[in-house]
Amino acid sequence: MARETAGTAVHPPPEVGSAPGWPVVLYFHHVDPDIRHYTCVSPAAFDAALAGLGERFRPLDPRAVPAVVEAGGSAEPTCLLTFDDGYADVLEHALPIMERRGWRAVHFVSTDLVGTVEDHPVRGRLRHLTWDELAELTRRGHVVASHGCSHTPFDRLPPAEVRREAARAGAVLAARLPGAPDWLAYPYGIPPGPGVELPELCFGSVKAPALAWDAAPREIRRTYLPADGRERWETCMDEWRRPWSPGASL
Ligand SMILES: [Zn+2]
Repeated sequence: MARETAGTAVHPPPEVGSAPGWPVVLYFHHVDPDIRHYTCVSPAAFDAALAGLGERFRPLDPRAVPAVVEAGGSAEPTCLLTFDDGYADVLEHALPIMERRGWRAVHFVSTDLVGTVEDHPVRGRLRHLTWDELAELTRRGHVVASHGCSHTPFDRLPPAEVRREAARAGAVLAARLPGAPDWLAYPYGIPPGPGVELPELCFGSVKAPALAWDAAPREIRRTYLPADGRERWETCMDEWRRPWSPGASL
């Protein structure tokens, strides 16, 4: 999987879930029959994923995340779904499946891209959800949070600029979607360097280590179901659930 290990960093594989006792957090970008991407699955595959996850985990209502943090974790196996970038296919394809199976998600959006159409070099024309559509998601029990403003990786910006990006995205979200929590998912899963004040909960990617959220609230590990590796899904889900199994060595 060279694509996931570009550069020199070696990171844990998707089979690694969360620190024992903390919810497994998954990220997707698209649920679409035609888009090829390592976190894009077809609607049928997404439905199968939620079926498998539902057998092993209680869906974590994203609005209950603060209570999980407050409690220092989750006594039962829980899984939180997240989507990055706010693409329109999520509303079209993922939402009905999630609602039918009793799941809600966190949608991390880059505020400058809301309502725009992106000409992606690989994935083609991609429509981003509008503010009205994000408000609709919120009404239906989902949570919308920050993915920065411009989707620039934070390690390419000076600290002052990262601070401005995070603050501006938070302010725009608070104005557009009152009640939106102060959470952020790093563009490309890349945290900034030291010296930047960040929201209270920050979500990384599969590059992040599996640490307890209270020990590392600004680099919460998220993992994914490899779109091109369906044969790994059962193992992934079993591994993610293992820390809650009776007799599991923590
Ligand atoms: Zn992104």
